[in-house]
Amino acid sequence: MLPFKLVYSDDYYLPIGSHVFPAEKYKRIHDRLLGSIAEPSDFITPHPATDEDVLLVHTPQYVKKLKNGTLGPREQMELEVPFSPALVKAFWLAAGGSILAADCALSDGIAISIGGGFHHAFPDHGEGFCMIHDVAIAIRRMQRDGKIRYAMTVDCDVHQGNGTAAIFASTPTASEPLPSVPIPTLNPSLSTKIPAKTKLHGSHTGDVFTISLHQENNYPAWKPPSSIDVNLPDEIGDDDYLAWLDNALSSGLRRFDPEILCYIAGADPYREDQLGGLSLTIDGLKKRDELVFRVAKARGIPVMVTLAGGYARNVEDTVTIHCNTVVAAKEVFEGR
Ligand SMILES: [Zn+2]
Repeated sequence: MLPFKLVYSDDYYLPIGSHVFPAEKYKRIHDRLLGSIAEPSDFITPHPATDEDVLLVHTPQYVKKLKNGTLGPREQMELEVPFSPALVKAFWLAAGGSILAADCALSDGIAISIGGGFHHAFPDHGEGFCMIHDVAIAIRRMQRDGKIRYAMTVDCDVHQGNGTAAIFASTPTASEPLPSVPIPTLNPSLSTKIPAKTKLHGSHTGDVFTISLHQENNYPAWKPPSSIDVNLPDEIGDDDYLAWLDNALSSGLRRFDPEILCYIAGADPYREDQLGGLSLTIDGLKKRDELVFRVAKARGIPVMVTLAGGYARNVEDTVTIHCNTVVAAKEVFEGR
């Protein structure tokens, strides 16, 4: 039995037909975990988020359009997945899964939803395969229930977390304002390894601190500022990536003290990804997961994990990368 819960439903499947987003990955991950390190009792089934939950992040106008099926052609195009009422249901369920995972993380130290991570959704529109922002909804719900005040998002999808950055950009400052200056910290021992082009910068003013490590030369074209953005050059490999992640986590946690860490564990920094341009290996991606988990565990910060993107040429690689996130969590959190 795993020392944490896996949140999953067969209805996480996104009814989008033949698409570069492999919507069948969720069930494949579930099945592979069940055949290897997980038992049926490790899985718990979420309920869909309520409209009230969704409205903690999204505008009433946008939610109404989704519920009534009245998105305009341009809005449907931006979504980049075919709109349907069934798809709305699947996204509400993903948000419910993230809420449940956040709740379990607060009681168990870590929980993983085998879904979610729809970090390109904005309050008033969806884009980049993301209809609503499940992670932001979970954070706002935990705050509304008085379970947490401060949260941190650590987004390791290859694409910048533009929705996350926009949603939490101007949240009210509940603590002392943090300096909004570029972060000068650069581990000198790493400086010879890190290409000069790479920049780590950002500012922070709210109750949710957002970190995004992503390929600079990739979607989204407009990247609203996160608290820390690490704009990585094309083709960066395991060692450089891990050094930058370590640096960003240290910088963030020096400046901010979250009560939950929401890890968005995209599989698309993988070297064989069709929509990514970084060069991480499957092993490097597992080391990435381990690093996030070790840092959180050492500081006693609960971790809620969602999966986000993954478009490997061979979908089995995407499944392996996501399953490895669960394996990494088991290795780090077992025997606490
Ligand atoms: Zn992505």
